[in-house]
Amino acid sequence: PDDIGRLVLLGIEVRADGSFMSLPLGGALPDDRFDHDGQITKQEIRAATLAALEPRPGALLWDIGAGSGSVGIEWMLRHPSCRAVAVERDPIRADRIARNALELGVPALEVRRGEAPEILASLPPPDAVFVGGGATVSGMMEAAWSALPRGGRLVANGVTVETEAVLLDAHRRFGGRLVRLSVDRLNRVGGLHAFRPSLPVTQWGACK
Ligand code: SAH
Repeated sequence: PDDIGRLVLLGIEVRADGSFMSLPLGGALPDDRFDHDGQITKQEIRAATLAALEPRPGALLWDIGAGSGSVGIEWMLRHPSCRAVAVERDPIRADRIARNALELGVPALEVRRGEAPEILASLPPPDAVFVGGGATVSGMMEAAWSALPRGGRLVANGVTVETEAVLLDAHRRFGGRLVRLSVDRLNRVGGLHAFRPSLPVTQWGACK
């Protein structure tokens, strides 16, 4: 156990007092299980994203624009044989991804600091690709799609109209499904409470 009194290894959390519990695998972990700077795919959206990516034993995910690393980390937590490469251009976030992976017991997550799509050519071929950032960068969706084998899955999320336009275009060219997800969270308003909507996330997913 580390200095906060617990250790997580491959989804099993061991506490300082010797008790242990496995991490839940059904949906997605709460956002506060990850160190992040606000750039994180929120829990409910992350659950839908992982479901759309369809993790399978032994499969390799490219998590492009990985932010906090939450998607790649949870992909690896689905099965001990799942592998992931997190691509992130921001050096502070890239370091954070490695720390989060260690903290959540998947130190084998490979973190590649750099710009997609250029860096993608140097990665081992994926079984699934998630584009969580940079979908509007020229050539990104083509590079992600062409890296996939037949039967591979590509999922991309966006909140801006520019990203939405890219996802609509991808849907037209490659098929699949386009959905818009919104989550309202309960917040305190004075002494009472109200649901505060977050920005809706448009998600495109397709099987090659
Ligand atoms: N899915 C992430 C959040 C992604 S935020 C999570 O759950 O934590 C989008 C990220 O994409 C940002 O960190 C940004 O730095 C990164 N990004 C944007 N364009 C990129 C590019 N072309 N190459 C690599 N990373 C990129």
